[in-house]
Amino acid sequence: MGSNRQLAADSRGAHTPDAARAAAPSSETPAGSRTHNSISRRASLMQEPVLVLNATYEPINVTAVRRAMVLMLKGVAQAEELHSAEVHSAAHAHQVPSVIRLLAYRHIPQQSRALSRKNILLRDRNTCQFCGRVFPSSELTLDHVLPRSRGGRSSWENLVACCYRCNNTKGDRTPEEAGLKLARKPRPFTLHTSRQLMRLIGHRDDRWRKYLFY
Ligand SMILES: [Zn+2]
Repeated sequence: MGSNRQLAADSRGAHTPDAARAAAPSSETPAGSRTHNSISRRASLMQEPVLVLNATYEPINVTAVRRAMVLMLKGVAQAEELHSAEVHSAAHAHQVPSVIRLLAYRHIPQQSRALSRKNILLRDRNTCQFCGRVFPSSELTLDHVLPRSRGGRSSWENLVACCYRCNNTKGDRTPEEAGLKLARKPRPFTLHTSRQLMRLIGHRDDRWRKYLFY
């Protein structure tokens, strides 16, 4: 699924400490286009996904190379696995991480670390949960199963991927009222969901395997 890579970068709140940002859910969209121009190749390398481990080696998030390298330079994290490519600056070549580990342990609340549009789309495999069709991320929205106007919350259990057509049909109604049927009950976030999301993002990087598959 080609759209996975665009779900991989990290950035949230400009004022959070570095380690907190490293551990936070992601929202930045890496540039996907590749040209033969070396500057844009480098830019695209800087957006490659990097697996972030807690000090205990527990996988906690996915960030982008650029962010991971800043964390390493600041001494917040160290590289555990290296990317095959290097980044060259005027003075020297920098090794590019594929997996980094935070040097100080961070406690990360389960819920706050993963509720994001892209993670909901990943969980639902970019499939509209009402008509069952697969769409590119740009053609999907998030639907509150129980509408917000009825007290429906923005949570893993109440948000599903939904195409615009079904979203229009449903409007401000429950699925039953609109004559729609959920493909499946939205699953809450668990540690299992978290691992699964990271596996989906990192399925092409063998260097992530030993941290995610066991
Ligand atoms: Zn639909």
